[in-house]
Amino acid sequence: MVYFALKITGNLAGVDNLQPRGGVDDPDHPYLFKLQCENCGEISGKFSCVMLSEEVPLPRVYGKGNVNLVQKCKLCDRVGTVKMISGFGKPLNHTSGECGRYVGIMIFECHGLAPVEFSFGGVWKAQSRKKLLEIDLSKGEFNDFNERVHVTDLKAKFERMKTF
Ligand SMILES: [Zn+2]
Repeated sequence: MVYFALKITGNLAGVDNLQPRGGVDDPDHPYLFKLQCENCGEISGKFSCVMLSEEVPLPRVYGKGNVNLVQKCKLCDRVGTVKMISGFGKPLNHTSGECGRYVGIMIFECHGLAPVEFSFGGVWKAQSRKKLLEIDLSKGEFNDFNERVHVTDLKAKFERMKTF
């Protein structure tokens, strides 16, 4: 079993504590990414979506229990699974973003698949001086010139870990 930490960074101006709308462990926040088959190296053409509130049973050959995604490789037919592990993520805050450090927001336990190419889908939130803002990061940045709020240079990576 392999674990991947999803880490993000970016520049925050006029806001702080960037995270999915209901927090990093928001049960209904869609985490979107492509998956690379660990058997043949093929990368899925479409983005896969996982969220904590959506579970599927593990294929019988892997044992009992639930995971968040079961996906078959289109090239070699190998079946892989992804399970989200909550309770370890933190919001991206001004201090970490400013110096370019990455902050881990979610951990994925993967079997046969490796997550690649994270996409900032769903609704995110961040705290401005005056209020809590709901923001759309699907274009890779967010600008509200009236409120002087800017979220730019967003980057994400998956870090492979043996344990967490
Ligand atoms: Zn494959």
